[in-house]
Amino acid sequence: MGTKKKILIVDDEPFFREILKDIFNEQFDIIEAEDGDEAVSLSHQHLPDLIIMDVEMPRKNGIEACKILKNEIKTRKIPIILFTARTKKKDMVLGLKAGADDYITKPVYIPEIIARVEAHLRTKDHYSDLEYKDLRFLLEVTENISAIRNPMAILRLIVEKMEEIIDVARCSIISINDKGETIVKASNDLGWHEELILDLSKYPEIQKSFESKQAVIINDIKNDPLMDTVREQTKNLGYNSIIVIPVVKKESVIGTFFLRTVSPIKDGITDRVYKLCQLIANISANALENAILFESVQEAQEYFEEISIRDGLTSLYNHRHFYDRLEEEFSRASRYGSPLSLVFFDIDNFKRINDLYGHTRGDQILKKIGQLIKSVARESDIPARYGGEEFAIILPNTAKEGAFDLANRMHSIIRNHKFENLPDEQITISSGVSTLVNKNVQSFNELVHLADNGMYTAKHQGKDKVLQA
Ligand code: GH3
Ligand code: MG
Ligand code: MG
Repeated sequence: MGTKKKILIVDDEPFFREILKDIFNEQFDIIEAEDGDEAVSLSHQHLPDLIIMDVEMPRKNGIEACKILKNEIKTRKIPIILFTARTKKKDMVLGLKAGADDYITKPVYIPEIIARVEAHLRTKDHYSDLEYKDLRFLLEVTENISAIRNPMAILRLIVEKMEEIIDVARCSIISINDKGETIVKASNDLGWHEELILDLSKYPEIQKSFESKQAVIINDIKNDPLMDTVREQTKNLGYNSIIVIPVVKKESVIGTFFLRTVSPIKDGITDRVYKLCQLIANISANALENAILFESVQEAQEYFEEISIRDGLTSLYNHRHFYDRLEEEFSRASRYGSPLSLVFFDIDNFKRINDLYGHTRGDQILKKIGQLIKSVARESDIPARYGGEEFAIILPNTAKEGAFDLANRMHSIIRNHKFENLPDEQITISSGVSTLVNKNVQSFNELVHLADNGMYTAKHQGKDKVLQA
């Protein structure tokens, strides 16, 4: 055996060992084992640089073997990648608990195996090359990260720590969102809650790193051919070197580190800086993935909160939210002595429209009316679908005149609207208005009752009218 690194492949299926051998044969010395027992004894004998091991095997399985190897000082530092069936989540968890460094699911995706193997070997090398101070730093970062629950705080911490240990002009973590936008998630020259969208075409180095999934190092910005297209913009930068490290999780790039160092040209990006960045990128891969997951969970939560207060057809607020908001606005108005108005309206002869044109067409009309209401209401107004073809608009800080004004505008915009597929029909509404002013109304229920009465009277007086109770 020469200076090649050694990989131990453990699987009871010869076919599978052959596949892996094919992939790694040229680059590495391959040792093979058929089960966990053999894996343990061959590990002692050869001290491989990395172990790829199946979980399900006869006699001793991969998880048990992993436990044994990670318990012994001699073998504990060997990275172990476990193979588990995609359907067996429990195996992954047990494997990681047993100390496995990573897992890959079967069926295997070859570029992923290669990427994982390379990442682990690199990590092992870098750790063994670094000085004590840097190792302490990495240990501290790892410990801190695992104690923080807020993923954005993790990213900020990484940025801060990087700045502390490396002489950088700027350190940023960048990711691409699902709209394809390149976003700076955290940076030492950005506020904590700021996000910055980058025009990727102005950053050929980031672009290259995203595409190649490899680190991009530019030691001399002013002369590197990659920077030709941005020569003008980079002419007066206060730094000379750039390093971009992709943060790769599984086979996709989930973000990049982007460091700009102020080191003199002759030094460029030193080996130490490169290694530290690479290690931090590996450490933060999980944190970044969580951050992205966290965001999508939060967005989903906001989405569900939003739809739970909205009516599905018109997307106006629903009946329940109408009452929540009315109660809130009523007590606010009572406390501050400010006016509060309510407009109720009901579509005239809507049953006839449904009977003539069908329910679906009727629904389309309701939806359109929802849009017309939104177009008439102000930002501070609270429009809701009260029920079937009845609507309500809460008007905070609005006295009687303002409420009548809005109701009349509502009437005319609906009366004059040519509804699609119903061009010959004129739709009208009947409205009731009520206003709280100078404590004239005792409760929000009373305010509803008054508006409702106004609307009822409008119907009785021939419809297409706005009335006060
Ligand atoms: P009025 O002028 O007195 O209000 O007469 P109207 O026909 O509008 O009143 P009524 O209360 O008798 O009937 C309301 C009709 O509105 C009944 C139903 O066909 C229709 N409607 C209620 N909700 C919906 C809905 O969600 N979709 C559709 N398409 N129609 C609805
Ligand atoms: Mg009606
Ligand atoms: Mg009705």
